[in-house]
Amino acid sequence: MRRTTIVILCLLAGLAVLGGVVVLAITRPEDPSERVSAATRNLSSSLREAVSPKGIMEHERRLQDIARQNGGNRAAGTPGYDASAEYVAQTLRQADYRVTVQKFELPVFQETEATSLERVSSDAREYDQGADFALMEYSGDGEVTAKIIPVDAAEGSSDSGCEAGDFDGFRAGGVALLQRGACTFEQKARNAEDAGAMAALIFDDSPSKSEAFAGTLGEPGTSIPVLGTSYPVGNELLREARGGGARVRISARTISVSHTTSNVIAETPRGDAGNMVMVGAHLDSVPEGPGINDNGSGSATILEIAEQIGEKDIETRNHVRFAFWGAEELGLVGSQHYMDSLSDSELDRTSAYLNFDMVGSPNHVRFVYGSDEVTTVFEDYFAARNLRSTETLNLAGRSDHGPFEEAGVPSGGLFSGAGGTKSGDQAETYGGEAGQPYDPCYHAACDDTSNVDREAVDEMSNAAAHAVAVFAERE
Ligand SMILES: [Zn+2]
Repeated sequence: MRRTTIVILCLLAGLAVLGGVVVLAITRPEDPSERVSAATRNLSSSLREAVSPKGIMEHERRLQDIARQNGGNRAAGTPGYDASAEYVAQTLRQADYRVTVQKFELPVFQETEATSLERVSSDAREYDQGADFALMEYSGDGEVTAKIIPVDAAEGSSDSGCEAGDFDGFRAGGVALLQRGACTFEQKARNAEDAGAMAALIFDDSPSKSEAFAGTLGEPGTSIPVLGTSYPVGNELLREARGGGARVRISARTISVSHTTSNVIAETPRGDAGNMVMVGAHLDSVPEGPGINDNGSGSATILEIAEQIGEKDIETRNHVRFAFWGAEELGLVGSQHYMDSLSDSELDRTSAYLNFDMVGSPNHVRFVYGSDEVTTVFEDYFAARNLRSTETLNLAGRSDHGPFEEAGVPSGGLFSGAGGTKSGDQAETYGGEAGQPYDPCYHAACDDTSNVDREAVDEMSNAAAHAVAVFAERE
């Protein structure tokens, strides 16, 4: 490095006599890689040497095999994800890590068909979903035709159904008509179910509320259909039930279940435990495909870095903690769960978080994002190798650095582009095709090993290894 610099300076000095423009070139900033300590340079180069695209692609092929054996994907809550987590945990254990599998619940709720509510007694009437009633989130599944049984409901009363005693005399097999207020919908629904109700209708609490409302039961577990209705609809059914009987037909087709999924976490055991840099990538795919670029590429990259540190016994000044997140695609669920359950002292020792979500896009750009403290490290690295990089805001809060950013941890990462379109300028800088997506197989079945650009993975993984070295050596 130093010798190259001297040669360039001599060359420039020689040329300087030819024109003032060249003289300016001599005053360019020092080589950015010279700004880091010798220890960092050493760690960076041994890590980059150890981490190879070949090793990364081996992990990618294993993830591809796992998807193939598990219905074509590795989505959160499916056997394909669990097998991916098992593979990562095993690889880490073989490299001498103590591995923590952090489990968490993943609620899934889906309304698979439109919900219906009809009054089938005397004056039949079909109510309007959205205007008259709404399905409660985490409602159970079922079709029922039964008699309405009001439960402690009255004009003005709103603690209807909050106590098990409210259901004294309730005839099992009926539809409980309850009123909103005083306790959670979940509690009312649970009491109704316990009393033998086939479904529960919870109507609004004030005559001024003429529109249906959207409510939630909080989590899966209720097995009967639960609907919220406007005040007028509830009141109409209440009056009819009292005046001789009202029957309704309800159809709610839902999937409401809770899957257990996990984050896989491992930390280097040596060095200053009080100073820890965290390195993460989401391990889950979308259900539509195997997710080998999104985000097998980031997962395989940090797995390879972890494996090499472990196997080659590479020493770092600080601790490095690796995290493979579950359920990112469902809204950063795994990383948010990690953050929510983190103690203050664990948060205190976290000096930075580096995130790698898609680093092998076929029509790639070297996007850098996050706080200055992190982006500078990547930008300096690329600049020192005459590689351009582009700062992007597109990933703001959209990947697992979000929860860290919110908690005030300096965070950021690399990104090679998803479903967005490459501009003409970007094609000029990076090559590839303008007007085409960075990743044509983004969130699709074709996101397999052939969708990963090896050169992109090579460049990005070297930058990742370098950034790990910088934070792992920082005092
Ligand atoms: Zn992703």
